[in-house]
Order: sequence, then C-alpha cells, then structure tokens
Amino acid sequence: MTETSPMQKTNLLGFDKKTLQDYFVRIGEKPYRADQVLKWIHFNGMQDFADMTNLSKALRQKLSDMADITTPQVIYEKAAADGTYKWLLRLNDGNCIETVFIPEKTRGTLCISSQVGCILNCDFCSTGKQGFNRNLNTAEIISQLWIAVRKLSKMNGLHDHTITNVVMMGMGEPLLNLDNVIPALHIMLDDFAYGLSKRRVTVSTAGVIPAMQQLRAATDVALAVSLHAPNDELRNKIVPLNKKYPLKELMTACRDYFKNDTRRSITMEYVMLAGVNDAPKHAKELIKILEGIKVKVNLIPFNPFPHTEYQRSDASTIHHFCDILMKAGLNTTVRRTRGDDIDAACGQLVGQVKDRTRRHERYLQSTKKKVVGENA
Ligand code: SAH
Repeated sequence: MTETSPMQKTNLLGFDKKTLQDYFVRIGEKPYRADQVLKWIHFNGMQDFADMTNLSKALRQKLSDMADITTPQVIYEKAAADGTYKWLLRLNDGNCIETVFIPEKTRGTLCISSQVGCILNCDFCSTGKQGFNRNLNTAEIISQLWIAVRKLSKMNGLHDHTITNVVMMGMGEPLLNLDNVIPALHIMLDDFAYGLSKRRVTVSTAGVIPAMQQLRAATDVALAVSLHAPNDELRNKIVPLNKKYPLKELMTACRDYFKNDTRRSITMEYVMLAGVNDAPKHAKELIKILEGIKVKVNLIPFNPFPHTEYQRSDASTIHHFCDILMKAGLNTTVRRTRGDDIDAACGQLVGQVKDRTRRHERYLQSTKKKVVGENA
C-alpha cells in the first residue's frame, strides 16, 4: 500500500495512524511522531515538513529527503445556485475524479469518490456508464477531504462551509476497494486528523456482502445500502450486482450488521424511477423485505443524465410511496436534489475515466442505435 510520488518519495498523506507509526519505527524514530505528523498534515493542512516546528530540525530534514505530502491537482471548481460545490481532481495518471460539497442548515456533507469510474454498471447511474479504470489509493481518497477543507475555509457567503459529514457516495463502489477505503476512514475519524464522528461518516454500497462483514470488523461507521428494488427480478435488472448477491442474502447481511448495537440502523437508498419501481405494490414489497431490520429509508428522486431512458417519478408518486412506508412504521425521508445545475447530484458524477472496460463506448453506440431506430 506504499504510495510513492514520481520522485520515489513516500507520500504520507494516505497513512493512517497505525501505518504512520510503523513508518516512523521503520526509519528509526519514535512511534508517537505519528500523532504530531498526522495533525500537521490533516488538521493544519501542511505540506512542507520544514514547517512542522515540534519535530527536530534533523527529523524535518530526514522527512523532506524521504517523503512528501502530495494531493491530486484541482482542475476546476463549480458552484451551484444552491451553494453546492463540485471539484474535478486530476490524478497522477491523468484520470479525473469528482468530489461534491453539499451545505445544509445544520450540516455540511462532503461526497467522496472511491474509484475511477465504477465496475458495477447500475442501469440508472451515470458513473457506471463511464466504465472503470482503477481503485483510488488511500492518499487519493483522503485528498478529497484535505482539499475540500482547505478550499471551503477560504470561502465566505451565505452558507456555513464546515464539513460535518462525509458520505462515500461519489464515483465507485467503496466496498470493492476496502484496502484503501478503511485507512481513509481511520483518518477521517482520528482526532488528530479530522475527528469526524463515526455516525457522520457513511459508506454506501450496492451490496457487496462479504465486504460488508469486513468493513464492520475493521471500523464502525454508518452504512447505507443502495437497494432500489424490492424483488430480485427488478433488482437484477437495475443493480446487476444483485445476480451475485441476491436480496434475501443481502437482507440477512443487513439484519446482522448492527446486531450488537440495537441503537444503530442502516440507511436504505431507493432511487425513484418513473414506472419502474415506484408503484404502491413496490412499496408494499419493500415493507415485507425490510421486516425485522432496523432501517431508515431514503427515497432519491432520479437525477437524469445524457441518453438515459429513465425518468424521475413525479412528486405526488414519491409522496404516496413515502406515505405507504411511513404508515407501516418505516422511518422514511425524501432526499432533496442538490447541485443538479452543475451535474453534482447523486449518480451524475462522471470525472474523466480512461475506460478500460470499453463500456462507455458500447453505451454510446447502443444509444446511437436506438436513436437511428427511432428515426427509421
Ligand atoms: N456504489 C455505491 C456508492 C455510490 S453511491 C452504491 O451503490 O451505494 C451513489 C448513490 O446515488 C447510490 O445510492 C446510487 O444508487 C444513487 N444514484 C446513482 N445514480 C443515480 C441517479 N441517476 N439519480 C439518483 N440517484 C442515483
């Protein structure tokens, strides 16, 4: 997991406390240096070892020779009318990823990417249609928070720019990149770094069951599951991962997730697709499969993207669906669409993916064929 820059220096940005302690021991230093350096890097935002004044001059020099603290480059920043910000970040290999900040009255949420593109290809998600290139390393994941904190602290305006929450709901499937995601979560929660509360850091998954158990064993953050359909037939179609991990098994994994902590619940995300999964019968099926699991349901109005065949359910349909769930005792909210004027809403993040799957190309071809077919 060592991350080296082109100079072959070790990039310390992606090291959590344990990795940093091991690093200091390896270079003949005391492990407590980890707390100091973690604080300089993440709390103070320092990139130059020379400024780390509680380290000896000799150690500062040694670190400057051996290591660095580097982030991806910010290519652009876009602000939406509602105060949402989106950044496009260029990685060393030329791929680009997107990160979004969403200010609300009582909190500020940063939405972070975990992969360049996504392998899962959910039918209603724009990221999936871009194809996939690779996993992000820990430095690239935590850089998104590092950069956003710095950018936002310089902004004035109507909104509070404090990041209180992080959701791993950007590009990619975090549970297919756990080796890099887990240390990034540790850094988010570490009091010497960002000190975020474990309930305010959420990992979202389409349902990679074995990795859910691994995540639970490694750390204790909040979990969201992208459910989107109440039966296998429909879910196989819109979330293809369901063919590998079908609903019954997924629901068992969810039931077990917070077994030893009855105060915790899982958020079930459910995108509202007109005429596809939004009928009262779907709501009733949903109530059945969620029986006995402590959940909150979050209904997400579909956000459109170019060439998609799906449409957003209308407000009254969403309202009715929500009502049925609430009457059955399910705590249900409807996600407010944010930042859609800059394509920063859920499922609209695309970055610039050097697609290795050729999926993007095939997707464009299939939409072209349809247009030709329609015109013929
Ligand atoms: N792969 C993870 C992380 C991505 S999270 C997961 O599937 O959970 C992104 C969230 O936005 C998921 O719930 C996803 O299903 C939802 N989403 C994707 N495309 C969307 C779209 N076009 N409109 C609304 N929500 C969408």
